[in-house]
Amino acid sequence: KIVTLKPFVHITSSAPIAVETHGGRAKCLQRLIRLGLPVPTTVALSFETVHRIAAGALPDTRSILNEFGAAPLVSVRPSSEDPDWGGPGAILNIGMNDDRHAALSETLGARAATKLYLRFIQAYAVHVARLDPDMFDVPEAPDATALRHVMDIYAEETDEAFPQDPAAQLAEVLRSMARAWEGTTARLLRQAKGAPADAGLGLVVQRMALGLGPAESGAGVMQFVDSATGRRQITGRYRSQSQSRDALKKRKGALYLTRDPRGESLEDRCPEVFAELVRHGETCREKLREEMQLEFTIEAGELRVLDALRAPRSGRAAVRIAVSLAEDGVIPREEAVLRIEPRALTELLHPQIDPEAKRDMVARGIPASPGAARGKIVFSATAAQASESRDEPCILVRRETAPEDIRGMHAAHGILTERGGMTSHAAVIARGLGLPCVVGVSGVAIDDRKKVLTTAEGRSFREGDEITLDGGTGEVLAGAVPMLEPSLDETFQELLSWADAVRDIGIRANADSPSEARLARSFRAQGIGLCRTEHMFFEDDRLTVMREMIFADTPEDRQATLDQLLPMQRADFVELFEIMQGLPVCIRLFDPPLHEFLPSERSAMRDLAESLDLPIAEVTRRVDQLSEFNPMLGMRGVRLGITVPEIYEMQARAIFEATVEASRRGDPVVPEIMIPLVSANREVELVKTRIDGVAAAVRNQTGAEFDYRLGVMAETPRACLRADEIAQHATFLSFGTNDLTQMTYGLSRDDAGRFMSDYVNQGVFAEDPFHMLDVDGVGELLKMGAERARATMPDIVLSICGEHAGNTESIAFCRAAGFDYVSCSPFRVPVVRLAAAHLAL
Ligand code: PEP
Ligand code: MG
Repeated sequence: KIVTLKPFVHITSSAPIAVETHGGRAKCLQRLIRLGLPVPTTVALSFETVHRIAAGALPDTRSILNEFGAAPLVSVRPSSEDPDWGGPGAILNIGMNDDRHAALSETLGARAATKLYLRFIQAYAVHVARLDPDMFDVPEAPDATALRHVMDIYAEETDEAFPQDPAAQLAEVLRSMARAWEGTTARLLRQAKGAPADAGLGLVVQRMALGLGPAESGAGVMQFVDSATGRRQITGRYRSQSQSRDALKKRKGALYLTRDPRGESLEDRCPEVFAELVRHGETCREKLREEMQLEFTIEAGELRVLDALRAPRSGRAAVRIAVSLAEDGVIPREEAVLRIEPRALTELLHPQIDPEAKRDMVARGIPASPGAARGKIVFSATAAQASESRDEPCILVRRETAPEDIRGMHAAHGILTERGGMTSHAAVIARGLGLPCVVGVSGVAIDDRKKVLTTAEGRSFREGDEITLDGGTGEVLAGAVPMLEPSLDETFQELLSWADAVRDIGIRANADSPSEARLARSFRAQGIGLCRTEHMFFEDDRLTVMREMIFADTPEDRQATLDQLLPMQRADFVELFEIMQGLPVCIRLFDPPLHEFLPSERSAMRDLAESLDLPIAEVTRRVDQLSEFNPMLGMRGVRLGITVPEIYEMQARAIFEATVEASRRGDPVVPEIMIPLVSANREVELVKTRIDGVAAAVRNQTGAEFDYRLGVMAETPRACLRADEIAQHATFLSFGTNDLTQMTYGLSRDDAGRFMSDYVNQGVFAEDPFHMLDVDGVGELLKMGAERARATMPDIVLSICGEHAGNTESIAFCRAAGFDYVSCSPFRVPVVRLAAAHLAL
């Protein structure tokens, strides 16, 4: 790091300038000078100098101005370490005073000279003297009266005449910019963008290239890619008799850059200057290894390049630009991979609210599944299905969702729930389906009988009213807001294939349905890491059979209903195996409590009583009998497998028969079967014995040979603590961090949303632990589980399949702990492929 204590440096090719001491803009200007671009004389003030000025030191502005020759006009611009951290706005035409005004009136004409002076007074009054901007609106006609007028206002408001000494003007400008940077608001804003608390500000003072005067003069901005698509194309504008970025402010009177049938262009008017700019653009791309935007001025026919910024770009443009730079050999592929923030890919995978659109926010909740959706409000799953059949996009609004809402969720374009957190039913299902979802929208009241949603401010929305959800921010907006469609073009695929070449952790998808499996394939997941089989029973015809099974009184009756479910499950698995074409498929045996399959409302109970031909009292009795105080900690997962073993046996048989069938038709299948919610070794032994028995029976009946792998879901603290013992009968362990987080914190995953925001706001939790893996607590159990399992079974395959698997920080943790793969929602797969590559590079 070069640290200069000199109060300022004249930027030349060899001056000691570094991003860490003088900021990105100063460094970039030096690079442009090295590349031979016509940059006007520039001086840089270091972070340290600017910091001292803010603290009260007097800058030696006379020596600074000496660097620019006689009677210069200069500009000052901010130069922070990262341009995204912002900074005070540029101030132009410093040095204008009555004498300069008179002199320039001779050379440039009175109008141009007055325009420069007015502009400076206005900027100085507002940004340095901090006067009300409304008083200094630039007057229509830049003439002597206007000038007198603003001078008078300045004098009245400050009790001083407008300062005439250029050195004093510059000193005040530097001081006000230095102080603005250290203000609390500015600091909070940049810290929100990731700047450290002590981020410094450099300043660059540059000779003004005047875009006003008799010969061709003006200013413009040129870039060589389209900011929306990233395709190579010259874009920008130029305006005669203007300064800075004026050309971009108003279309009227500005010139196109390249020849254009719609009007005159810079290429027509100044072909040499145009050609020179294009050449500079090429040089920058190749030598700065980036697509830049050039800010230029034509000063009496001569080109000056004042500044170059990284060309602004949308998420999709960023991908195209990085890929194109790598394809042209300007940067290595690894660097292209590193240049794209994994998070930014989300924008490409889902529709987004048009950033230009007006947002009328009516409520806010937890952003549970990304993307944006708009549609008419519906309050029930049935209404959502009806809406779908009319081809009308709808948003399903519920207090919370339950398994019986699944079909409605499929039919909806977005989901809003009043309750719930990151791992609530609505959140998990929506992420799986790739549906935008906002949960835990506290403050709203949902009356599904009257079909009205009322916001905290008392605005009400009825069924059929349109709303828009932003699943990326958690905002609920009134009306149908304009959207941008997702884009998964070939450059996106190309970038991800480069990411795959460097990453060193496997990536699978959580998928329960053929459409999710196809999605997982299309995003090139390396298999299915979690198929939650209970989701397969929520489909309408199966739900009925499932209920019959629950109501069966005798083992024979139960077997009869399971016999009906068997072919359905078999068909499910055959389809999944075929879609995955030999890639591993990990099937988790039935997990949720049985009462989730039963109706909770009186009318639905009556329907069920009718279809089962039972008295309603019997139905209510059975529902009561099965309901639990805390079903998440009740008769779930393997506990059900031990107490009602027929269900797991049916599932195992369906898996094995499907294995035989799919292997006959295509690639050989080695299914993976996973036992949920294990907390004791004996549970694994009991289930394993039964499954082995089913495998032997199927081998016998079909005459076919097949293998299978049995694994355990480590999602209770005890499973992690006793992993050495539990691993003995398992070929793999998959950590279910949703349940593990719930049980480690003793915090119900369905109710956490109610107070999570208070907890995060008050700093009790740094983040929602259902969203960001709690490395200190839950992570400790993961590490312990992994180490203990490996101690007895060194080759055991380790993975994570909770919602955390889609999250960059957790992937870093799993990679460091030596996990073999992560398994996340299909829509997260591309993001995780890129994030994993970043970790490996
Ligand atoms: C888990 O608990 O982390 C998990 C993946 O299973 P589920 O979310 O289905 O309980
Ligand atoms: Mg679980």
